[in-house]
Amino acid sequence: NEEYERFDREIAEMGVKIKDADSLKVRDDVFDEVTLIALYKLVHRKLISSIGGPISTGKEANVFYGERGAQGIAIKIYRIQTGNFKAMTNYLAGDRRFSSVRGTRKGIIFAWTKKEFSNLARAHEAGVPTPEPLAFDRNILLMEFLGEDEIPYPQLRNAEVEDYGAVYNEILAYVDLLYREARLVHADLSEYNILYHEKPYLIDMGQAVTLDHSQAHAFLVRDIRNLNRYFSRYCDVGDEEEIIAEIVSR
Ligand code: ADP
Ligand code: MN
Repeated sequence: NEEYERFDREIAEMGVKIKDADSLKVRDDVFDEVTLIALYKLVHRKLISSIGGPISTGKEANVFYGERGAQGIAIKIYRIQTGNFKAMTNYLAGDRRFSSVRGTRKGIIFAWTKKEFSNLARAHEAGVPTPEPLAFDRNILLMEFLGEDEIPYPQLRNAEVEDYGAVYNEILAYVDLLYREARLVHADLSEYNILYHEKPYLIDMGQAVTLDHSQAHAFLVRDIRNLNRYFSRYCDVGDEEEIIAEIVSR
């Protein structure tokens, strides 16, 4: 369609190619006008020099490999049309940083993108291994790529782990650091949102909330329960209530 051809030309003129994203369905769902404008901005700011293949298609977002010069980046694009934005509203409303966000699907998704950026920044500054957030514009988040040769590190559920007990303890230490230093609860912690290569990395922090969120405690309980459920297949796990009591005592 004409619109796409124009966008393609303009993007190409900026020296960026969208590779491997040519299925019409992906184009329609992901690269709508708002998203292309956000991409232009990021390209214009010299934060993206190429967009590579798709890494993941999730419920709310697509992740693409990209580059900024020689640096690999992950480009996470929250879909405006087909994203599950209703679920986002609750997480935003209770969080003092974002409680004033109201209104349109677009507005909520932009706020969500900014929220993931700032959650990653807080976590990263606190010393929790996460991708370093690099920039955001509208519904696009750029972050450090965790992987090698354009292949992301595996999710924990698919990773080869030698010492599960040690990895379990490392992740608990991250949850503790996240709580104590970043004052955040991840709120969707699972073997899907942890990448593993030599050590675990926490990812996917859009839904993470500050401790003043009315459900922060319930989310913490759920996170620990998920971890215990997963790790209990591989190693001894701690008592859920004791772990939580220890974390919140600080
Ligand atoms: P979703 O909200 O769709 O679950 P995630 O943030 O969990 O999005 O990312 C989905 C997948 O994309 C991850 O499981 C991982 O494979 C890949 N991915 C996300 N961020 C990065 C990153 N910074 N580096 C490498 N791969 C990533
Ligand atoms: Mn995820």
